[in-house]
Amino acid sequence: MATTSVTPAQHAGAFLQGPKKLLIDGEWVDAASGRTFETVDPGTGEVLATVAEGDAEDIDRAVKAARRAFEDGPWSRISPSERGRIVHRIGDLIAEHAEELAELETLDNGKPKAVALGADVALAADLFWYMAGWATKLKGGTITPSVPYLPGDSEFHAYTLREPLGVVGQVIPWNFPLLMAAWKLGPALATGNTVVLKPAEQTPLSALRLGELMLEAGVPAGVVNVVPGYGETAGARLAEHPDVDKIAFTGSTEVGKIIARAATGNLKRVTLELGGKSPNIVFDDADVDAAIAGAAQGIFFNQGEVCSAGSRLYVQESQFDRVVEGISSAAQSIKVGHGMEADTDMGPLVSQEQFDRVTHFLRLGAEEGAQHVTGGQAIDRPGYFVQPTVITGADAQHAIVREEVFGPVIAAMPFSDVDDLARQANDSHYGLAAGIWTRDISKAHRLAKRIKAGTVHINTYHVFGAELPFGGYKQSGWGREMGEEVLSNYLETKSVIVGL
Ligand code: ADP
Repeated sequence: MATTSVTPAQHAGAFLQGPKKLLIDGEWVDAASGRTFETVDPGTGEVLATVAEGDAEDIDRAVKAARRAFEDGPWSRISPSERGRIVHRIGDLIAEHAEELAELETLDNGKPKAVALGADVALAADLFWYMAGWATKLKGGTITPSVPYLPGDSEFHAYTLREPLGVVGQVIPWNFPLLMAAWKLGPALATGNTVVLKPAEQTPLSALRLGELMLEAGVPAGVVNVVPGYGETAGARLAEHPDVDKIAFTGSTEVGKIIARAATGNLKRVTLELGGKSPNIVFDDADVDAAIAGAAQGIFFNQGEVCSAGSRLYVQESQFDRVVEGISSAAQSIKVGHGMEADTDMGPLVSQEQFDRVTHFLRLGAEEGAQHVTGGQAIDRPGYFVQPTVITGADAQHAIVREEVFGPVIAAMPFSDVDDLARQANDSHYGLAAGIWTRDISKAHRLAKRIKAGTVHINTYHVFGAELPFGGYKQSGWGREMGEEVLSNYLETKSVIVGL
């Protein structure tokens, strides 16, 4: 297909004009080195925009600005109510610019515009609206201490304060660029922290546009700094920076471990939302058609570039052939194309590197003896397209079953009994998500308890909401994003004791 058939961006065109800069201390500035990098439309391979390439020196400037804004700036003195209103306005502005942000996301990441609009942008706005409400609801408690080594008539009044941590570094991935920025920024701002955000080098555009919208919403200078750049330079500096109080990371388990090590210098707080290899389980008493549709959505949504994608499909023996046939025919009916085309169901992978990774796993799967029931190949056209793929004949030792592919590739495996299934489902060093399809509610809830994963879906898949904590067991991460639970990642608790 010729690249000229791509529907032009109706709303994002203006933002794409001219080179993009770093947001530091409320100003749009060049990188100290003067260097830039190009961001590419993965649906065509063509350059979309030139972006200032932040590195360690720019991170240092941004951290200084964030420190000043935290210690001396208006952010530390602003009332919780006003802080909440600003966070709420960010959500409003995202909703007002939904079409533009969705187009930026589609052009930079590759995903279909309908997905960008319906999932990324809608969830990002909602995340800010949800977190805005917390700004006025943070509270400590009053406590009566019993102190055995003091005289019995000693009396105290004690209470706890919940205080922001200070300067927070946030490093985010390319699969949901705007939404991951929202997951990170919403709670950090609602709790009164200041931030240096490093978007992924593959997809810096929506975070930069969000930076403009945050200034428009009234976020004071220095409170949010956005510094695109590479992981090994800008990201690494943020993780090790001695004046950063916390690092929040979403990305691969491999880089998560590097970040955790880098953070030990000043023992900054660390939260990590990492990879997954999530089991999706279909029992023979399930609504099998719904399970097939759910399993297909669980792996093919967003090109499979989802950390919680249901990439291991376990099907009870008697329904195995039917489910494999169903998901294969669902895969074949997916219209793969440029994300800006209205009828596209699945876009390209984000980059050449990701394309190489996914096609490597496809080859490896075949070498290890698994069969591609459908798909299994790259698509010969400009951009980074691969076929939605269903694999059978893989076993628990195969790389395709153990390792995160991060692409539209599902391995289907039969199982016979629940105990064996639970063992197989947990046979992974990841523990991010799982799916269970059955009409037997007792079985569903019992199994949900046995599965070691941060999110378990029953008769549905890929349900995310600002209210729902999200994160991983085992090597899928530390801590939770979203919900009330995320707030504690951004707050210290202080006990204050008064002798009466
Ligand atoms: P992927 O392999 O899927 O691209 P990564 O985990 O490499 O995912 O990247 C996620 C984010 O982590 C990106 O913003 C990237 O720039 C950043 N990153 C990569 N390497 C490092 C590193 N050594 N230190 C800090 N951040 C990094």
